Amino acid sequence: MLNLILFGPPGSGKGTQAIKIAEAYGLIHISTGDLFRYEMSHNTPLGLKAKEYISEGKLVPDEITIGMLANKLDQHLDAKGFILDGFPRTIPQAEALDTLFESHGWHINMLLALDVSEDEIVTRILKRGETSGRSDDTDESVIRNRIHEYEAKTAPLYAFYDDRNKAYTFNGIGSIEEIFQGLCALIDEHLS
Ligand code: AMP
Repeated sequence: MLNLILFGPPGSGKGTQAIKIAEAYGLIHISTGDLFRYEMSHNTPLGLKAKEYISEGKLVPDEITIGMLANKLDQHLDAKGFILDGFPRTIPQAEALDTLFESHGWHINMLLALDVSEDEIVTRILKRGETSGRSDDTDESVIRNRIHEYEAKTAPLYAFYDDRNKAYTFNGIGSIEEIFQGLCALIDEHLS
């Protein structure tokens, strides 16, 4: 199995790269942001709860997010591997992920972190907001909150995986194809 975490601030290109990597390596792509957007668009109880946080640029509480991820993993017990995009975002989520994976006899191979500056990501997200239909992409104060949540709660996860020799940083500025090729080279090196 090959299990990857795609890591980086909002707007760093995780989603775009995760889709390409999933296709190239035959992995199941799980984006917790996409799962929440699906629930919100169907006005499910989970979606309505998540919306209270997402509309303000805050992280959805761990117990809700972890439960949703666990359900999703259970639907793919025969997967060749996973690429997780936007999960884990807190230390308790990373610990829960370890426990969930261990219960299936799986482990995380690599965390791939995309490195992009704050000014660049605000510009990118506002641009994406012109077409994404995401209300959390159009309001600059919500975007700043998302970046603040990232710095406070998510960035420390890098050290969590670095301590386990699983963290790799990659420059997230460049063309989609250049970054994709660079990430593939890192993955191939790990596999060889
Ligand atoms: P994303 O599409 O990954 O940028 O996620 C959009 C929003 O969904 C985030 O700003 C959070 O409010 C929420 N969200 C997505 N993934 C998580 C997670 N792992 N933990 C908590 N909240 C999340």
